[in-house]
Amino acid sequence: MSIAECLADVRARIAAAARGCGRDPGAVRLVAVSKTFPIEAVREAYDAGQRDFGENRVQEALEKSRAAGDLAIHWHLLGHLQANKVRKAVGPLSTLHGLDSIELIQKVDVVAVELGVRPELLIQVDLAGEATKHGVAPGEVPRLLESAERCQAARVVGLMLLPPAPDTPEDARPWFTRLRELRDGWLASGVPPSMLRELSMGMSGDFEVAVQEGATLVRVGTAIFGRRHVQG
Ligand SMILES: *Cc1c(COP(=O)(O)O)cnc(C)c1O
Repeated sequence: MSIAECLADVRARIAAAARGCGRDPGAVRLVAVSKTFPIEAVREAYDAGQRDFGENRVQEALEKSRAAGDLAIHWHLLGHLQANKVRKAVGPLSTLHGLDSIELIQKVDVVAVELGVRPELLIQVDLAGEATKHGVAPGEVPRLLESAERCQAARVVGLMLLPPAPDTPEDARPWFTRLRELRDGWLASGVPPSMLRELSMGMSGDFEVAVQEGATLVRVGTAIFGRRHVQG
């Protein structure tokens, strides 16, 4: 299948999953994860109507955003943002999914003020307590949200989840459910809804389950571009 055909298939599956649980398909945005794939693949997906693209590494994201400078792409950084790359990343990359400390959020905000941009930030939540992954423990999230309310230019708009790799799509469901329930609890405790409007969860193997559990951003690579032959 071509990239355009794969995209159409993924979009149809997202829409079906949304309708099946009474959600508006338009409430779910597809982020096409182009990491390791060449700029030609990005252009092909763009020509098929795709506008949101995700990358894991700042360097690769910046190279692609430059190479596709003529296209109206909304770039998402999915991986962890190192403090020393904030200055480069803010600006070209408009949504950053992997924020996991107050210091990092503040640093992004300072740079965003300087550059006159308004990046959207998602707080990565580590539900499994995985030492090998980034993200903050659920108990820390309210503190980050409270501090992020003082941002001048950057805006925290939601939460991101990268659960342990599931064997089956259903294995991922409890993690997705848990993130949604936590989000609902924080909303009930008075966190401004604008800070919790996005739930970034679901990848090629489990995005339909994620949609059923409330995802507003699904990050799909393999199901659109094919298998990656190098580590992304
Ligand atoms: C690579 C990656 C994805 C996409 O994974 P696929 O299984 O290829 O869809 C999604 N989210 C993050 C954070 C990733 O690093």
